Amino acid sequence: MIDTTAVDGTCPRCGKAAVSQLEATPWCPSCEWNLEAYDEKRSRPLFGWRWLDRRAHHLGYRMTRRQFDRLLGRPLDATGAGAATVITTVASVVLFLGVATLAGTGIWLVVGHPFPGPSILLAVPLLALAIGLRPRFGRLDPYAEVLSRDRAPELFGLVEEVARAVGSPAPDVIAVDDDLNAYAQAVGVRRRRVLCLGLPYWGALGPQERVALLGHELGHFVNGDPRRMLLTQPAFTTLGSAADLLRPAPSTERGLVEMVGAALGRVLQWPLSRLLFALHLVLVCVALRDSQRAEYLADELSAKAAGTTAATDLLDVTLRVESMELAVRREARAGHGPARWRAAFDEARVANAGRLPQLRQLSAREEASLFSTHPPTGLRRLMLDGRERHEPAVVLTEGRSARIDEELAKEYETVRRNLAW
Ligand SMILES: [Zn+2]
Ligand SMILES: [Zn+2]
Repeated sequence: MIDTTAVDGTCPRCGKAAVSQLEATPWCPSCEWNLEAYDEKRSRPLFGWRWLDRRAHHLGYRMTRRQFDRLLGRPLDATGAGAATVITTVASVVLFLGVATLAGTGIWLVVGHPFPGPSILLAVPLLALAIGLRPRFGRLDPYAEVLSRDRAPELFGLVEEVARAVGSPAPDVIAVDDDLNAYAQAVGVRRRRVLCLGLPYWGALGPQERVALLGHELGHFVNGDPRRMLLTQPAFTTLGSAADLLRPAPSTERGLVEMVGAALGRVLQWPLSRLLFALHLVLVCVALRDSQRAEYLADELSAKAAGTTAATDLLDVTLRVESMELAVRREARAGHGPARWRAAFDEARVANAGRLPQLRQLSAREEASLFSTHPPTGLRRLMLDGRERHEPAVVLTEGRSARIDEELAKEYETVRRNLAW
């Protein structure tokens, strides 16, 4: 329990010295006493009520830990997914059928009845609701710069090589943007596969970490992540949209009759909207359990492509994104390109290497959430450590890595100018 306090900074359970990083509530690095503590000053409010946020934190922490224990050393593919997948899929099918029924009834009221007639009064709101709740397929981010193969043949070649190594199809679109991140997604009804590399991130990574990044992202095309599958889209969106649509609009009525009417409407709409939102949260939370399982699998595919060492190094980078951002921005302002970004970030990494074990531990507290798409970075690393070690299937040499950067010189320069602003 968290009500025991450390005496003189020692762990009351095992007597070792308690530690802290980033001014977080101390914990024991040896037996993890107090690691589950809810750290109010360092947590983003989830619901805004302290007691509820605390509860949600502990529940999120326990669920994350339990899933970790369940998956450690076991197959990570979708066969090991369990109840969360079944619930997500069934809920999606039911929600989709519900929206289809709304649309079908609306159309029937219009087509199968004399026009104009009273049935139109019901048909219009039903159709409007069905349109508001229609499945969304996502689209390519307009800020992503799409690359062509002749612009970046070396990068395309590497991506295809890594795709083969992890057994995933190659992306249909490769793009870059100026984020400190990278992502893989499927967009549109035809589910075109998009791989987007944030150049500040890509530029600051070492060659083998780049392979690990590609392995993880391409792994998302084959890891059965429900966030990226067509079938399970409704579980993530429909109830949330319904709650939004039913939320009472701020009152603009002037007359007494209108005000009474609006108040009556609100009495019905408000609780219904909140109920739908609560159901939305529960469903998303369940569906995200399977997303977290899929993230562990993407990490394993990353290790297969780049080797376990590079995959775990990349996870450590995730813990240091802030220091990466500082280094990259500083060098970009000084007019330097990716070679200097990487060198500056490497210096920061070496200088702070001693803090890493504790930052990994702390991530298990701070990144555990009911609504997190990823498991905590520290647990992802432990998961890889607990599995069969992989040698790299794809080796990216310094020379080839530099050639990729040369191909992208124009894009890097645009990003550099944006960063320097
Ligand atoms: Zn202890
Ligand atoms: Zn991922």
